[in-house]
Amino acid sequence: MSNHEESLDPNDWTLPRQLAHQMIDDAITHISEVRKRPVWQEMPDTVRAFFKSSVPSDPTSLETVYAELRENLFPYSMGNIHPRFWGWYMGSSNFTGALADFLAAVDGSNLGGGNTAPAMIDIQVVDWFKELMGFPEDASGTLTSGGSMANMVALNVARNALAGVDVRAEGIMSMPQPLRFYASNQVHSCHQKALETMGHGAKSLTEISCDDHFRMDISALEKAIAQDRANGIKPACVIGTAGTTNTGAMDDLRAIADICKRENMWFHVDGCIGAFLRLAPEYQHLVDGIHLADSVAMDPHKWLHTPFEAGCVLVRDAQRHFNTFEMHGDYLQMQKRGLIAGKFLADFGFELSRGFKALKIWMSLKENGVEKMGRLIAQNIQQAQYLEQQVASDPRLELVAPVDLNIICFRYANGITDETQLKELNTEIMLRLQETGMAVPSDTTLAQKHCLRVAINNHRTQRQDLDLFLEEVLRLGAKIEAETGI
Ligand SMILES: *Cc1c(COP(=O)(O)O)cnc(C)c1O
Repeated sequence: MSNHEESLDPNDWTLPRQLAHQMIDDAITHISEVRKRPVWQEMPDTVRAFFKSSVPSDPTSLETVYAELRENLFPYSMGNIHPRFWGWYMGSSNFTGALADFLAAVDGSNLGGGNTAPAMIDIQVVDWFKELMGFPEDASGTLTSGGSMANMVALNVARNALAGVDVRAEGIMSMPQPLRFYASNQVHSCHQKALETMGHGAKSLTEISCDDHFRMDISALEKAIAQDRANGIKPACVIGTAGTTNTGAMDDLRAIADICKRENMWFHVDGCIGAFLRLAPEYQHLVDGIHLADSVAMDPHKWLHTPFEAGCVLVRDAQRHFNTFEMHGDYLQMQKRGLIAGKFLADFGFELSRGFKALKIWMSLKENGVEKMGRLIAQNIQQAQYLEQQVASDPRLELVAPVDLNIICFRYANGITDETQLKELNTEIMLRLQETGMAVPSDTTLAQKHCLRVAINNHRTQRQDLDLFLEEVLRLGAKIEAETGI
């Protein structure tokens, strides 16, 4: 008897089964041969045009859909899984994490909450992070899409704790005093974005000057706090950065912890880059004091190489965290038994439906163990030190910032002193490196000096990649100098 009711499942699984095996085979080839490909390449017009076709009304076989992707998608991705990708600040993903994302989707659970094994894994991963960060067992936390959301969750809890009114009921306009948040002038832009979104305005974030290692000037922080207090503004929170995005600088977390304690302020650490240094015994002293924070944001999709997206925030005071986000409609009331019993995960962040992000972290941490993850972190730092030495020993190159972690900021100078010319030259070097697919560095400007920026957050990078890259920078530098007559 024929069944006229439809579903998304195929009537016959033979072909999807074959195709799925093919996809896994292709995926392994894609990753194992990554070194043979350019890091990145420009899409031809035909590919751009392919992505402009209108909404499909008729079906296409999965075989064709997949063939189209193989042709139009995989050759034109970002390239951050390539050993010579060091732009901005990314992780380089891993195959186990990719399998986990697939398995999580097969499982299909909604991690908003529920009395389920996936929820146990979500809770366990957060518990592991608490243990790794030296947070107490009764602290809370949640997995987020990334560091921006992790920081935003923390700033919301901090704001509600310091607002001086029931801000959930009354709103920020009822606060008796305006609040101030403090961070170094190297702070990641997501904090300003969060405070703007929360309705406090960009001016609620005071940027504190830095020393010559781009670390927050602690006495300038103290002065700013005292001055604001004298002016009727309420100092609420200091954001310490454990690893800045520009240069990998580490704020003095212990000093900030002391000030926050004395001033009754919230101590938040943005550890999106540096928090996992706790896994590397020889470098964990760099984040000394992180365990004293009221909240910490971290980014497994950076130094743990979890496939995007995966962030996490920990909050020391679980009750305050819960009080900030707890919310249940009539259609979603908790029960003591059954499927909706237990901890409701969405009570610790803004989102209700949540993906099973925990699985890709969980599988990769179990497979590798945290000691290996720590060794990979140490390896990147040592590679950065190696590149620093190579740059320092070549008179044509100029180091623009001290290398305190895994980020190197330098430029091809070759005796040129004009800043405009230097910027033109180094921008052109960067773009040619990207366009030939040889390597992907990015750039930044530090104390008015434009430079190339190499953030080695990549478990596939080897020293030979760095050698190749420097050779190419020198070759391109000389070539562009000759071409342009700079
Ligand atoms: C990357 C980064 C962020 C933002 O994290 P996303 O995961 O990109 O949202 C915040 N702070 C620091 C220090 C970062 O490096």
